[in-house]
Amino acid sequence: MKFLFPVFILILSLNLSADDKLPPIAIKQIEQGVFLHKSYSEVQGFGIVSSNGLIVIENNHAFIIDTPWSEKDTELLLAWIDNNNYQLLGSISTHSHEDRTAGIALLKQHNIPTYASALTNNILKAKDKETAEHVLNHQILEQQGSLLMNGALRAFYPGAGHSIDNIVVWLPKLKILYGGCLVKSLNSKTLGYTGEADIAQWPISIKKLQHNYPDIKYIVPGHGSIGDSQLLAHTITLTRSALQHH
Ligand SMILES: [Zn+2]
Repeated sequence: MKFLFPVFILILSLNLSADDKLPPIAIKQIEQGVFLHKSYSEVQGFGIVSSNGLIVIENNHAFIIDTPWSEKDTELLLAWIDNNNYQLLGSISTHSHEDRTAGIALLKQHNIPTYASALTNNILKAKDKETAEHVLNHQILEQQGSLLMNGALRAFYPGAGHSIDNIVVWLPKLKILYGGCLVKSLNSKTLGYTGEADIAQWPISIKKLQHNYPDIKYIVPGHGSIGDSQLLAHTITLTRSALQHH
């Protein structure tokens, strides 16, 4: 499947400090009112890794799905939102790991509402990390899903996979599923970091997504390239081979 990428690419320039050889955050439009933000970090054993998040725009309001991987990149993202005259309504982090939450403290300093599930906030708290200001009720997340941004976003908990707290975000109007780290890109040959994964539950959670969202235009994985519903089948395949090698 082909994508009409990128409508435009906006790369914000950084004052590179000596300790920083990472590329700066990149922001590109993937659909009317939807921008992908890609930020980078060095991960032991994996090298330099990129991470995806989204900025959703509606009526000049913006909402961030997953913060960039560092405070510095979160600052640049805030500047980008400002420069475009969007009003930032909040952010949601789709699980507790750094690539989703590194910007929470900074957003709170800027008085931006931050959201996470109760499960995610509990994990952050246990790890002595900054928690989100607003907690999404687990039961609602698991059943009808939690509405954000006036219904433009619906957060849903399909069950454990990459982590016990991973949630996804559905954009009903555009039929975009933000899968986060629960969904692997087609380039992924393995499940990646599985230190906190529930590999047996993972395919069951993915099947719930296949059932809930039969008509998906794009899926955004936590890392790697955007795709379509094939990413769900591919992720199930990866969990099967991981279970076999266990
Ligand atoms: Zn993770």
